[in-house]
Amino acid sequence: MPSRIDTAQARSNGVLAAVKVGPSTIELRELDLPPIPDDAALMKVEVAGVCGTDVTQYRLPLRGGPLVMGHENVGYLARVGNTFAAHKGLGEGDLVFLEHYLPCGHCEWCHIGEYRHCAATEWFYDPKAIRYGYTSTDIAPGLWGGFSQYLYLPLNAVLHKVPKGLTPEEAGVATPMSNGIQWALFDGGIGYGSTVLIQGPGQQGLCCLMASKQAGAERVIVTGTSKDARRLEVAKAFGADDVIDVNQEDPIARISDMTNGRGADGELACTVGAGTAPTLVGIEALKRRAGTMVVQGEGNQEFPSFPIGRMTRKGITLKSARGHSHRAVELALQHLASRRFPLELMMTHTFRLAEVDYAIKSVGGEGAPGAIHVSVMPWK
Ligand SMILES: [Zn+2]
Ligand SMILES: [Zn+2]
Repeated sequence: MPSRIDTAQARSNGVLAAVKVGPSTIELRELDLPPIPDDAALMKVEVAGVCGTDVTQYRLPLRGGPLVMGHENVGYLARVGNTFAAHKGLGEGDLVFLEHYLPCGHCEWCHIGEYRHCAATEWFYDPKAIRYGYTSTDIAPGLWGGFSQYLYLPLNAVLHKVPKGLTPEEAGVATPMSNGIQWALFDGGIGYGSTVLIQGPGQQGLCCLMASKQAGAERVIVTGTSKDARRLEVAKAFGADDVIDVNQEDPIARISDMTNGRGADGELACTVGAGTAPTLVGIEALKRRAGTMVVQGEGNQEFPSFPIGRMTRKGITLKSARGHSHRAVELALQHLASRRFPLELMMTHTFRLAEVDYAIKSVGGEGAPGAIHVSVMPWK
């Protein structure tokens, strides 16, 4: 087992980090290891997951100064102040999953564990808002991203203890898994007996699939393109009842066939870069009346000619896929620890800090072939 609290610092009290210095440009730099006050902690990053959001964000210009990306983080608490320890019920050596939201802790959303709605985490509108993986190193003490050996945890950091038996790498799947639980079960209303359409067989689609199967969905249909052949195989191994290659077959006709003309109860969009097409497929593939679809926007995507007439005639409920609640993360960690699904089939690649650029490109389909879930391991 690797030494857990060996704060054997990088070199000369420095922290090695992959710093984004411009669009699609990363430099390996040494950042300062800050003093840890009584109400804070230091996390030694074991695993930082890379997701589709990183692919989009990496290409964009910097909003503020340079930053360390990496918002899906798992690691050991390396130093813990007394106030922090008392407040969190955690101590040095504990393996934790860190949510990327840094919420205010006292608003109506924080009190119900819906941190992503807290105004303090809205980095899109508030330049002062701090989120792990999106915050410049110019904001002290600078350790705000997981593509780094250490992360700084103020008292409002949200931590989940990783259940015994899960490796840090497995726990690294907690973010897409918690989104899967949030989107499929809490937002999409999928449960026992449901028929579900999941568009996109990447890490997020596969996690929605696992959540749906775990909840007792009767039939789960997963779509992808011809490039997704391997991912569709993994979907079958995770229990998908049907998979459709949309480059080979008309998904709407096939889904109608598969459901004897009834359509799906719920639809979950887990595609990246597919534009408005999945939403149009979703509206048609849902059952005649009262289906639910969970959609994602890409950046500031517009939707000219949105078929609102067709949607309202079918009485469709439209929901937004956006992050996860506290409860979804707890359930995700339990789900991963259950080992019901062959997770190793989706944990395809791990990379070192020096390879972050390649890791992000691999998730975007331009680097290592066959990537599904990709992790950066800063001490590798
Ligand atoms: Zn992510
Ligand atoms: Zn709040």
